[in-house]
Amino acid sequence: MTQQIKKAGLKVTGPRMKILEIMERETAGNNVHLSAEDVYKILIKEDEDIGLATVYRVLTQFEQAGILKRHNFVGNHSVFEINSGDSHNHLVCVKSGKTVEFNNDEIEHIQRKAAAELGYILEDHSVVLYGIYDPEKAKEWLAKQNG
Ligand SMILES: [Zn+2]
Repeated sequence: MTQQIKKAGLKVTGPRMKILEIMERETAGNNVHLSAEDVYKILIKEDEDIGLATVYRVLTQFEQAGILKRHNFVGNHSVFEINSGDSHNHLVCVKSGKTVEFNNDEIEHIQRKAAAELGYILEDHSVVLYGIYDPEKAKEWLAKQNG
């Protein structure tokens, strides 16, 4: 973790270490995305004396250094996650904000092809789909497709 901060050209400080530890623990490899307020709440729970302004600043520094990815799924509300280097997609519930990550080879291929047709080699992509989380209705819809 110290290495990661140094590689980003940042000085290793207590708050940076702690915030990176939280981000790795909470957001790496699962569906969790945290806002600055979320990180701040975790810090309070863990008795860490780090202010919200510092949390904002550190998250932004980490984002600029490529350690974190920032998303603005709903409105101006920023959430962050560890930049794992993969390019997963997100599905966001417009009612609750519930977000899940997914990968889909077909979508990936279509984007790669669309980019190539415009003369680009795709480097990264991020698709955000907005819907309403409703497993029952979704199941009905899928059943209709197959029938
Ligand atoms: Zn994600």
